[in-house]
Amino acid sequence: MSTDDQAAPADQFGWADPRTRYPNVSPEPQTQAEPGLQSEMTPVPDLGEATYRGTGRLVGRKALVTGGDSGIGAAVAIAFAREGADVAIAYLPEEQSDADHVVEQIEAAGRTAVAVPGDLRDRGYAKELVERAVDGLGGLDALVSVAGKQRWQPDLLDISDEQFEATFDVNVFGLFRLVKAALPHLQPGSTITTTASMEAYKPAPDRLDYAASKGAINNFSKGLSQLLVERGIRVNVVAPGPTWTVLQPSGGVDPSTLPEFGSSESPMGRAAQPAELAPAYVFLASQESSYVAGETLNVNGGMVTP
Ligand code: NAD
Ligand code: MG
Repeated sequence: MSTDDQAAPADQFGWADPRTRYPNVSPEPQTQAEPGLQSEMTPVPDLGEATYRGTGRLVGRKALVTGGDSGIGAAVAIAFAREGADVAIAYLPEEQSDADHVVEQIEAAGRTAVAVPGDLRDRGYAKELVERAVDGLGGLDALVSVAGKQRWQPDLLDISDEQFEATFDVNVFGLFRLVKAALPHLQPGSTITTTASMEAYKPAPDRLDYAASKGAINNFSKGLSQLLVERGIRVNVVAPGPTWTVLQPSGGVDPSTLPEFGSSESPMGRAAQPAELAPAYVFLASQESSYVAGETLNVNGGMVTP
C-alpha cells in the first residue's frame, strides 16, 4: 500500500509509511532560555491533540507525569487522559502557560487534572508533589518520570561542575527522590515508567553529563524493577531517540545543527514527534504489559541498541 498520495492518518492507528508518517521538521536555528516554552517553537511539536484516540486502556488509573507541560511528558499526559486516567502533571513554574494547555486537554477528555509546579532540585519538592497528586487524584498507581535536563557543550572543559551536578540533580537524584516519595502509595498492579534515551547506549560527545545521567536512569530502573516486582509493581523504561521538543532549542543541542535534527541520526531520516512516544508509555502502564518488567522500550526510529 502506498501512502504517497494519502492524507496524514486520522489517529495513531492509521496506516502510514513510518518514514513519512510525519514530515521531516528541519527546524530553523532558534534559541530559548532553559527550560523554554513549547508554544514559542517553530514548528510547534505535535502532542497528539488532534490525533490521539483513546480506547479505554487506562480507565480509572491515577497517574503522575513529571515534565508533563511539554514535549514527551505532555503527549503522555494527554494520551493517558484519553485512555481514561486522571492525571497530575509536574513542571517548572516558568512553564505554566505550556502546562495550562495540557490541563485543558486532560479536562477536555473528561478527566481530573492536577497541576503541581516546582523544581525537582528542591529537596522537599518530590514529597510535596506526590502528596498533592495523591490528594488531587485520590491515590496514585502510575508514576511516569519524564522530566529531564539536557545542556550541550562543545568540550569537556566547557562543562562546569555546577552543570554536571545540576544535570544529575534533576535527572538522577530527582528521580530517586520522586520514587522514594511515591513508593508508600503504590499498591500491587501499579507501574513506574522512567525515561532514558538513546544516549544511554550511544553517548554524544557534546553532552557527556546528560548521556551519563541517562545511563544511570536506565541502570537504576532495572535494579528498581527487580526490587519492586516482588511487590507487584512493574518498573520499565522508555528510551526515546531524537524527538522534536523544546529541550533542543533551549540549550539541549548546538542550535546550528537544528536544521538536520534527527534526519541524519535516525534510520527513518526524521525526528519523532512527541505524539509518537506516548503509546509506549501507555503500553507500559496498562495491563497489556502485565508480564513486562525491567524492560527498556526504545522508540528511536530504528537505531539498534544492545
Ligand atoms: P521538554 O523540555 O518538553 O520536557 C522536559 C521537561 O523536564 C520540561 O518541560 C520540564 O518541565 C522538566 N524539567 C526540567 N528541569 C526540571 C527541574 N529542575 N524540575 C522539574 N522539572 C524539570 O523536552 P522532552 O524532549 O519532552 O523531554 C522529556 C524527556 O525525554 C527528558 O527526560 C529527555 O531527557 C528525554 N529525551 C528526549 C529526547 C528528545 O530528543 N527530545 C531524546 C531522548 C530522551
Ligand atoms: Mg517544558
